[in-house]
Amino acid sequence: MAEAEQCPGAEAVLTENRESPAAGTDSGTPGDKPVCLIVLGMAGSGKTTFVQRLTAHLHSLKTPPYVINLDPAVHEVPFPANIDIRDTVNYKEVMKQYGLGPNGGIVTSLNLFATRFDQVMHFLEKKQQNHRYILIDTPGQIEIFTWSASGTIITETLASSFPCVVIYVMDTSRSVSPVTFMSNMLYACSILYKTKLPFIVAMNKTDIIDHSFAVEWMQDFEVFHDALNQETSYVSNLTRSMSLVLDEFYTNLRVVGVSAVTGSGLDELFVQVEDAVVEYERDYRPEYERLRKQLADAQSRKQQEQLERLRKDLGAVDMTSTPSTEGADTAGPSDLIMTRGNPDDSEEEDEDSDTDDIDHSATEESKEVDSFGTFLKERKEVVQVRNRKCAMPEDP
Ligand code: GDP
Ligand code: MG
Repeated sequence: MAEAEQCPGAEAVLTENRESPAAGTDSGTPGDKPVCLIVLGMAGSGKTTFVQRLTAHLHSLKTPPYVINLDPAVHEVPFPANIDIRDTVNYKEVMKQYGLGPNGGIVTSLNLFATRFDQVMHFLEKKQQNHRYILIDTPGQIEIFTWSASGTIITETLASSFPCVVIYVMDTSRSVSPVTFMSNMLYACSILYKTKLPFIVAMNKTDIIDHSFAVEWMQDFEVFHDALNQETSYVSNLTRSMSLVLDEFYTNLRVVGVSAVTGSGLDELFVQVEDAVVEYERDYRPEYERLRKQLADAQSRKQQEQLERLRKDLGAVDMTSTPSTEGADTAGPSDLIMTRGNPDDSEEEDEDSDTDDIDHSATEESKEVDSFGTFLKERKEVVQVRNRKCAMPEDP
């Protein structure tokens, strides 16, 4: 039975695919909040395989996780996802209707989904007693989490309710060159900066190559410089300087070698996760509580208005339309994008939500809300003009 049947308010847009175990199983300690593991990393680093492995591992420990897929473009999700973005946002239609390529389609889909993230929170809060862990798989478009409003909305919303840890999955086998390794670490660093959450680097694919070389590079920059000496380029000089700068970043970084394929390293990973949760409780929770307190003040109201405006701009995206595969040329451009709707319930859900109140104004993303709305409007106009031209008979 789908969760939505038990929760009419939330089915307005978003549904839960799988029923999670009933409260009272030994999967979570009552009263404890589940820990949210947000899995980020470049495309092909092994995020999805890693989430699949973690899911299997936690099932074997009789602590089934609550799993969310946020990758709208993935063909197959190899784990049982409780919530799948693909049920809510039709990524191919987003591309078509807004005239975007694959990358823009993914980023825009995440932005659309973020406007409904309160509904995800609704499900999570209902099920929090049943789970020790919430796992979140994401697309490889790292800019979503370093630049886009959706990344901030998603991480801040989650982190204001649950202890959150970012697991940055890195392809160790493709980081054997010091320059590539450095580039990967800079990505990790920028995510750390932006998400401001406890951070673990999971050096994946250790079944191909052991990660000890990378750990050594991080612990001893002279060893790293020796490796760099094999390369002579402007970039290697820059990398040399950067490695000194990153020294501080490395000293506070949790690193664990894992193989998503064989499952090695997972016990060590969970030791690190527990440590990161302690850090969240100590350093991050006070900050998020402060953010929560701001909810009531006028600034956050204004922010809420902006979010509402974004929702309107989206489409006029009819968030409440039901799935349809026909009539694309007669319906509004966005009618096919969001699916599984129910107009009567959406209002009620908005009122109920206590996650809408997060103050996103603390970041520059609030400005993006306006520009994203403008962007979508412009894209729609471009596509409409293009469609009109296509529909017209050829000019003599
Ligand atoms: P994502 O794009 O980050 O989600 O990466 P995927 O999970 O789709 O994995 C990309 C490729 O890497 C797939 O072919 C996986 O089989 C492979 N892969 C993922 N993890 C590992 C690992 O630990 N070891 C090896 N050898 N291959 C892996
Ligand atoms: Mg993936």
